[in-house]
Amino acid sequence: MLPGAPHLARDSAGRLTLDGLALADLAREFGSPLYVYSQAAMLQAVAAYQRALVGRQHLVCYAMKANSNLAVLQTFARAGCGLDIVSGGELLRAQAAGVPGDRVVFSGVGKSRRELQAALAYGVRCFNVESLPELDLLSAEAQRFGRPAPISLRVNPDVDAGTHPYISTGLRDNKFGIAHDQAVAAYRHAASLPGLRVVGIDCHIGSQITQIEPYLDALDRLLDLVEALEREGIAIHHIDVGGGLGIQYSDEAPPTADELVGRLLQRLDARGHGHREVLMEPGRSLVGNAGVLLTEVLALKPGPTKNFCIVDAAMNDLMRPAMYEAWMAIEPCQQRPGPAPAWDVVGPVCESGDWLGRDRCLAVEAGDMLAVLSAGAYGMSMASNYNTRPRAAEVMIVDGQPMLIREREDAAALFAGERLLG
Ligand SMILES: *Cc1c(COP(=O)(O)O)cnc(C)c1O
Repeated sequence: MLPGAPHLARDSAGRLTLDGLALADLAREFGSPLYVYSQAAMLQAVAAYQRALVGRQHLVCYAMKANSNLAVLQTFARAGCGLDIVSGGELLRAQAAGVPGDRVVFSGVGKSRRELQAALAYGVRCFNVESLPELDLLSAEAQRFGRPAPISLRVNPDVDAGTHPYISTGLRDNKFGIAHDQAVAAYRHAASLPGLRVVGIDCHIGSQITQIEPYLDALDRLLDLVEALEREGIAIHHIDVGGGLGIQYSDEAPPTADELVGRLLQRLDARGHGHREVLMEPGRSLVGNAGVLLTEVLALKPGPTKNFCIVDAAMNDLMRPAMYEAWMAIEPCQQRPGPAPAWDVVGPVCESGDWLGRDRCLAVEAGDMLAVLSAGAYGMSMASNYNTRPRAAEVMIVDGQPMLIREREDAAALFAGERLLG
């Protein structure tokens, strides 16, 4: 089955479709490379979280760094989500998408004074604080602002999420959060600061996690702290278990969001914390399988040891393969008969690391359109302009209609802010 099914399918004529629209047609209409997203797939993904949280005080805060297009943010906001942001730029996006401060949590290991000031002015629901200096700085800024800042401490629970080292964040050696054994002291300090109001506790142990156990371990570690803190009179209102749930790229079988949430709530209940508000920060699992990257085959270059299929999308459009050696499925938009030799699918960028897939058996010819699947998360949001390549356009299928949600970038705009020496 194709990752992204049932929204992604191959019809009886061999055409790859998303929500019933032929992807090759969309590439012809909007150009290549092109990101295409199914809004219905996004809504279905978030509904799985929300179903499982019915009857609980909760807020699903979409972690927008996975895909921060304004139309995507609007989609989740209208579905009742809040947002998890990690920069002042993402705060501006929250504002542009019309998401009010009381639905925004602000995470991030290094927040600048200006970012803290902007978030105070916007009235964010919670600052997820990651260090003692951040507590002091935030308290001082909040006092100047004249309103206490609501905070949670991001605790590093020291559990192994069993994922790629670059996307594992909850181990003792990671830069993120406050070490578990220093958390009580850090909360005491926070409670003593005049500009802060302790409201919660949070963690985020990694990304592309395909097991439930690391979440349960992390939750247990958080609850141990909550109990210790409340014995000292420091009240904790909400518990934010972070994001990180994995998706299917090839043969992974991650738990569904319903399953994950169900097990977490069970553990909360079993330990007598069922009354607490639950926050979650999913990113990838809400958008990853909802999108594809379309790219045209520019040329075929068979060689003595390797065959290269050169396409018009590159590492600047989709960084995951180059950055994490991530495997992403590549499918022709139109099946053609004939032999399917193995190709390295590579982009035009001047780096040997610029590949989208290796040893892929494909029946292709120049001019064909390919789709890189499961590209809705950490695709466009990580895109760059390396090699002065304008970023791709983005289309969202809404109620069966393709809507252009980001224009293709104009290459001249890329150096418009630069100055010649005179
Ligand atoms: C990136 C991030 C998330 C989302 O992670 P996914 O793996 O995309 O679900 C959630 N919370 C924080 C603090 C993050 O940095």
